[in-house]
Amino acid sequence: MDRQSLFVQVANLEERIGDLYVELGSLKQKIQELIEENQRLQQENERWQASAAGRGTTPSVDGLENLARIYEEGFHICNLRYGSLRTEGECLFCMGFLSK
Ligand SMILES: [Zn+2]
Repeated sequence: MDRQSLFVQVANLEERIGDLYVELGSLKQKIQELIEENQRLQQENERWQASAAGRGTTPSVDGLENLARIYEEGFHICNLRYGSLRTEGECLFCMGFLSK
């Protein structure tokens, strides 16, 4: 076996592992941000449910604007998947909820 080319292969592999390591780090950072965002949304959801319970069944105009903003940021606001990322584009349940 050609030792020179073996060395080059290992060096290339090392470089790719280095790149993957960097990519892994940035994905980890993104996951952490998503977890934090999710946490924030859960708290917001609890506050909203508490205020909706206190006022009857319909949220205030402010509440709806808030939900529309959360939806625009890419999260579900429907009962089915509240707070989870909208990975599949528009959600009919969310849009139905917003049009009320
Ligand atoms: Zn939805």
